[in-house]
Amino acid sequence: MNILIVGAGGREHALAWKISQSPLLDKLFIAPGNGGTALLGTNVPLKDNDVEGIVAFARDNQIGLVVAGPELPLVLGLNEALKAVNIPCFGPCTFDAQLEGSKAFAKNMMRETGVPTADFQVFDSHERALEYVRGHSLPMVIKADGLAAGKGVVIAQSMDEAEEALRDMMVTQVFGEAGQTVVVEEALIGEEASFMAFCDGTTIVPMPSLQDHKRIGDDDTGLNTGGMGAYSPAPILPQERYQAMADLAIRPITRHLASIGQPFKGVLYAGLMITEQGTMVLEYNVRFGDPECQPLMARLKSDLVEIMLACVNGTLAPELVEFHEETSCCVVMAALGYPQSYPKGMAINGIEAAEQIESVKVFQAGTQLQDGIPVSSGGRVLGVTALGTNLRQARERAYQAVDKIHFENSYYRKDIANKGLRRS
Ligand code: AMP
Repeated sequence: MNILIVGAGGREHALAWKISQSPLLDKLFIAPGNGGTALLGTNVPLKDNDVEGIVAFARDNQIGLVVAGPELPLVLGLNEALKAVNIPCFGPCTFDAQLEGSKAFAKNMMRETGVPTADFQVFDSHERALEYVRGHSLPMVIKADGLAAGKGVVIAQSMDEAEEALRDMMVTQVFGEAGQTVVVEEALIGEEASFMAFCDGTTIVPMPSLQDHKRIGDDDTGLNTGGMGAYSPAPILPQERYQAMADLAIRPITRHLASIGQPFKGVLYAGLMITEQGTMVLEYNVRFGDPECQPLMARLKSDLVEIMLACVNGTLAPELVEFHEETSCCVVMAALGYPQSYPKGMAINGIEAAEQIESVKVFQAGTQLQDGIPVSSGGRVLGVTALGTNLRQARERAYQAVDKIHFENSYYRKDIANKGLRRS
C-alpha cells in the first residue's frame, strides 16, 4: 500500500526508516518531510496544519494509511477528515486528541478516572487564578491549557514569577487562545520517564520505557527544549513494571474513552514523574515523543505497518509488537542558540562516516537536501542513535558517531544517559 507520513522531524525520519522496511509498503510519501525522509520516499510540500491539503493528496495518490507524526493535525481533525473519504489514519480522533490539545481536559480526565497526578485547579479568570496562586505555597506550576509549542509550562519559584506567568498567559495572551485557560498545579519532585503504548481502542500494548532530556544544558540546566536526547530502556522504569504502569497510566484513560464511544487508536504517551510517593502522570501526548521515537524505532523488531494497521482495525495483539533486547541511545545535535534563535543553512558532513560505526543510525530532523547535501534548516538538526548490548555501549557508540559529524555552530549535550548509567 501507499503510505503518507505527516511531519518533518527526527521522529518522522525514524518512522519513515522503519516503515520503508515493511513488505506491505508500496510507495512512501512524507509531508513535508526533511533531508532524511527524502532518501526514503517522496517529500510532499504540505504543512502539518494543512488538513485539507493532506486529505486531498491522500485521496489523489491512493494512500492506504496516513501516519500522523505530530499532534497538531490530530487536534485539527485529520482523523475524521480522512475517515470521511475512507482513508485510515494512525492517530486518534479530535475528541481523544484533546488529551494533548487541552491540559484542563487531560487533568480532568485523570481526576475522573483515578490516574495519579499533581493536585490542580483550572481557571479561565485571571483574577481568580491570581487569588488562588497568592494563597498557595511555592514552587507552583502554571500551564497554558492549549498547544503552546512546548513553551506553555512555567515552574514558578517565586510569587513574582507566578504572577508574571499568569499575566503573560491570561492578560497579554502571549500564546493566544491557548493561554486563556490555565491549569495551576502542585510542583512534583522526582525523576521523569516516558512511557508509551500502542492502542487499538480496547487492547493496549506497552512499549519499552525511555528517558528524555528536556533541558538544553548538561545536568538538566537552562531552557526547556523539545528534547536533547533519549535512551531506552530507562532503568528507573524496568520491564517488570510495564504492565503495572500500563494499568496505572494508560488503561484507565483508554477504557474510559471506549466507554463513551471515543475509542483511542494510535500511540498514547504518558509523561511520568517518579516520586518518592509513587508514580504520577504529568501529561499525555497522543503520538510518539520526539526524540523518543528514534531510539524506540531503533529497537523495534516487528513490522511497524502491521502494528499500525492492527491499531486502526482493532486487531492489536501483544505478539505483533516485539522489540530487540538491546539498549538504544540517541544524542540530538542542535544548532547553537536553540531553543532561542539559531543559524540555519549549515552544510552537514560526516553522516556516512558516523553510520560506519556498528549499530549507528543518524536520523535527520531540521535538515533539507541541497544538491544532494544535507543542510541544516531547524534547531534540532540530527538524532544520532545507536544500539548496544547495554546502555554504556549504546551511549559510547552514539557519542563516537557524534564525533564524526561536523557542521558549523553545532551543539549537543555531553551527559545523555548519565542518569541511567548511574542507576544501572
Ligand atoms: P508538560 O507539558 O505538562 O509535561 O510539562 C513540561 C515539563 O514541565 C515536564 O516535562 C516537567 O519537566 C515539567 N512539569 C510539568 N508539570 C510539572 C509538575 N507538576 N511538577 C514538576 N514539574 C512539572
